[in-house]
Amino acid sequence: MSLESQPRFPLAALPTPLQEVKRLREALGGAARSPRLLIKRDDLTGLAFGGNKARKLEFLVADALGTGATHLVTTGAVQSNHARMTAAAARAAGLGVSLVLTSKTERPRLEGNLLLDHLFGAELHFIPAPADPKVAIGDQEAAAVARVMTELEARGERPYLIPIGGSSPMGALGYVDATRELVEQLRAQGETPSRLYYASGSRGTQAGLALGARIYNAPYRLCGIAVSGGEPEKTDRALRIANQAAELLGVPDRIAASDIPTDQGYIGPGYGIPTPECLEALQLLARQEGILLDPVYTAKVMAGLIDHIRQGRIDRAETVVFLHTGGAPALFAYAARQLEV
Ligand SMILES: *Cc1c(COP(=O)(O)O)cnc(C)c1O
Repeated sequence: MSLESQPRFPLAALPTPLQEVKRLREALGGAARSPRLLIKRDDLTGLAFGGNKARKLEFLVADALGTGATHLVTTGAVQSNHARMTAAAARAAGLGVSLVLTSKTERPRLEGNLLLDHLFGAELHFIPAPADPKVAIGDQEAAAVARVMTELEARGERPYLIPIGGSSPMGALGYVDATRELVEQLRAQGETPSRLYYASGSRGTQAGLALGARIYNAPYRLCGIAVSGGEPEKTDRALRIANQAAELLGVPDRIAASDIPTDQGYIGPGYGIPTPECLEALQLLARQEGILLDPVYTAKVMAGLIDHIRQGRIDRAETVVFLHTGGAPALFAYAARQLEV
């Protein structure tokens, strides 16, 4: 097992806390109705307001530096947390950074994550977002990225492309290591949770969590909540990333589709569009625990977890871990009206 020997550029404040949220459990009916709830606080990884991408970027930035790169390039939605943290990571490593962002408007407002991208001095390239949130725009994005890469090379830069969400086998190593950290914390605290809830977006987190659970014999099964459509391709993608990461590490473990069930029931109208249940979850965590979720990822996961508890699908004797992957800077790009329940 050679995770320790993988090059790594320090970006995240680790380990992140693992904390019990008793007031949330009370709000969900207490011990009579709700399992015990723990939150793994990866919103507190610290890089430019934190989030899950800091863990992936430790491995991706080290790889970029190893290849002599001078500039990072990545893609995402206009309010991408991954783009914001990639911009910060680039600066922390002394690199330039270009972001190709999809936007519904030609000149999106400088707010939320986009304001931070701007503060990091990222070179911003906007391409139109599809009107139908269920449509992928892969080809257009790939063409724009190719154009940006060529321009950078013509300027004498050595650009390093990080795929959307940092979801590559290298990036997934961040969540293999996060699993090692979590399993150690659980052991030290005498906890044996039965489930881990987390957001399934571009699937690098899922791939790392699944491989990590296998390698470190995690006590829980994975409960993914999808925040965007695209099945069955997304599950294939997660399997490919996980199994290539296993090859990178030289471990015999392999992941199957049955290891990563992903509940598609809480996406609502589409990626980035809050549902009433997601807004309810966001307010509940804020008011019961003083913890901020985000309207794109973590609040939809919490909405799924709350619904599973209310439906009686989780026994109250169980302990559940909720992986908080960050995202709160996006709150500032949602008008107050959109965040009202
Ligand atoms: C990117 C992101 C996720 C999803 O992680 P993937 O590896 O893309 O599936 C979840 N939560 C937040 C806040 C994110 O920014």
